[in-house]
Amino acid sequence: MRFCPRCGGLMVPVKKDGKAYLRCQRCGYEEEMKGSDAKSYVDKKSVEKKGAVIVESYEEKKPDEEEKELKEDYVKQLLDNLYETESEQEED
Ligand SMILES: [Zn+2]
Repeated sequence: MRFCPRCGGLMVPVKKDGKAYLRCQRCGYEEEMKGSDAKSYVDKKSVEKKGAVIVESYEEKKPDEEEKELKEDYVKQLLDNLYETESEQEED
């Protein structure tokens, strides 16, 4: 994050004529965005986005996984019973 050298306001990235600038929201001061500046903005955004995705997928996945395990256990038990019955019949 960059702050305005004039007023100390927060500089936000803006695009103008295909170039990236940092513009002060308070006084409108602009300066060309340097590679390192752009990186700090992009990195922060991607990290925030990534964190949100992880939280979302974790909350959504947990009940599904539990349900799936329950179903698998149920099916496994059914199959076990089925095989047990078959083997018992064969023994008879
Ligand atoms: Zn300013």
